[in-house]
Amino acid sequence: MISRNLIDFHCHLDLYPDFESIINECEQTNIFTLAVTTTPRAWPRNRDLTLKTKYIRAALGLHPQLIDKDYARELFLWEKYLPEARYIGEVGLDAGISFSHTLKEQTRAFERILLCCAKAGGKVLSIHSVRSAGAVLDLIENNLPADRGGIVLHWFTGSIVEAQRAVTLGCYFSINTKMLKTKKGHDLLKVIPRERILTETDGPFTESGNTPAKPKDVASVVNLLAEIYGTEPHIMAGAISSNLKTLLNKYY
Ligand code: MN
Repeated sequence: MISRNLIDFHCHLDLYPDFESIINECEQTNIFTLAVTTTPRAWPRNRDLTLKTKYIRAALGLHPQLIDKDYARELFLWEKYLPEARYIGEVGLDAGISFSHTLKEQTRAFERILLCCAKAGGKVLSIHSVRSAGAVLDLIENNLPADRGGIVLHWFTGSIVEAQRAVTLGCYFSINTKMLKTKKGHDLLKVIPRERILTETDGPFTESGNTPAKPKDVASVVNLLAEIYGTEPHIMAGAISSNLKTLLNKYY
């Protein structure tokens, strides 16, 4: 029973060609999926399609890569929908070469998002931190106390020291197969306690074979993690499931 409860804690379900059919697929296969969004304009449809789903939750996002000079309007909309959302994401910072020119605006928006979440309380966030783990952790530390919201760092690529700092701040980490194909990903797992690990696909931005990964492909992350920890996949899946329960119980 436990092994059927796979968790994809970061997937862009609304970016697949057939949003409704992939929702049905996740429901039928009992995969707990966090449907992250990249703009608050996507929220109403994500919210409506997941109102009655058993395994899918929608998250209210404002992706750092989409922030530009005009971000205030998007942020206004994000704040408007915040009371309806328990899950927040994808939000964060991206200091990669293509997006560092908006880092100032990204920082202002993310700071505001964290402050709003702290004020509201009870939110669980999926956070992007490309080339900006230190700055992301600074903003979390200064704006969102651990008892006011849960943090899940998605596809974390920061340093070992930054990972240790994130652990101290109470963060969780959603791990995908791409991370586990790098030495850095393996090194990170040595400092991240097993109790803080979740799984994700970040589909459709990762592949399974030659096609975009779907939530069911999160099974391959579980298999790889089981190998790393020297355990059986169903035991690993059960551990991840219980990690998520612990996280959610803190904020319900
Ligand atoms: Mn993503």
